[in-house]
Amino acid sequence: MTPLKLGATIGILGDGQLGRMLSQAASRLGFKVVTFGPDKGSPAAQVSLASKVAAYSDEAALIKFAEQCDVVTFEFENVPAKSLDVLVAQGAVVAPSSKALRITQDRVLEKTFAREQGIGTVDFFVVDSLEDLAEAYRNSPTPEALLKTRREGYDGKGQVWVRGPGEVANAFATLGGRPAILESKADFLREISVVAARGWDGAVKTFPIGENHHVHGILSTTLAPADVPDAVQAQAREIAAKVLNGLDYVGVLAVELFVLPGDKLLLNEIAPRVHNSGHWTQDGCLCDQFEMHIRAVAGWPLGDADALHTVEMTNLLGPDILDWPRLSAEPKSRLYVYGKDDPRPGRKMGHINRIVS
Ligand code: AMP
Repeated sequence: MTPLKLGATIGILGDGQLGRMLSQAASRLGFKVVTFGPDKGSPAAQVSLASKVAAYSDEAALIKFAEQCDVVTFEFENVPAKSLDVLVAQGAVVAPSSKALRITQDRVLEKTFAREQGIGTVDFFVVDSLEDLAEAYRNSPTPEALLKTRREGYDGKGQVWVRGPGEVANAFATLGGRPAILESKADFLREISVVAARGWDGAVKTFPIGENHHVHGILSTTLAPADVPDAVQAQAREIAAKVLNGLDYVGVLAVELFVLPGDKLLLNEIAPRVHNSGHWTQDGCLCDQFEMHIRAVAGWPLGDADALHTVEMTNLLGPDILDWPRLSAEPKSRLYVYGKDDPRPGRKMGHINRIVS
């Protein structure tokens, strides 16, 4: 891919905080950004040159969007892969590809892909009916297992634990009978993630590993670079490279991993986009994950992913953001606000990066 020229236009499908921070990174490199998403006045639209408010399935709007953009990317994995196909058919350059999106937006395809690459995952079972679930639960090697929707689950949504045969019917009903996957419970010691990028030329850069803490299934904090043994670092980097190369991926992605006793790693999920657990890079690295993604899709050289600082990133959920007067006065920290009006409980409103060292 010929590197995009200064002043070229990057299109972003999706209009949340990730799009906002991608747009800010793109404009710092001299690109123009046009966003595409369903909400007027969205976090991304607020900081972009133009924004198209339309449904992701609106083909006429997608065709116009394709004509406006030199390259199109996305910040949201629930964009229909078909929308990317419409853009490509219109001659748009799209990265990551619709193939990478199709695999990573379906938990069964994603874990099957991971295993094909020689990456470990928890045991999993495809669940299309109550009978499937009953049989899957009988076959699960652990008495606790997690039923998840195959698609469109995030932040712990669309998930329910099954802790005994008596809970099977209820769990199935809770997910409304949607296509699902039953996962054996991973008895992990820690949760880590690796954020990495691949360029059009196949070059790969990996950020240092982050350690993640979740509360009620939502990421609460990331500490990075995490204090993990060299063997874990090396394995995580190898997994990231296998995923990037196996998907022929262009852009930034995150791989969430469980660390088991004996430093064994299992892949939990792949996010085909910049990721909440990579926000620490904004203050920890010379080139953060957002600039890295823009560089990758624009055909520019990948940036420097080494850590200059250890950073603790804390998400500001719902009313946490109302504490901004105190947070904004904290030394050695940087506050990021996403420009959303309604601080509903659990909603990602901003984050704060605190420099640890
Ligand atoms: P996910 O949306 O798949 O990332 O799941 C959200 C969180 O639920 C993870 O970060 C883990 O803390 C937990 N979790 C997910 N899958 C499993 C599993 N198979 N075993 C144990 N915990 C899990």
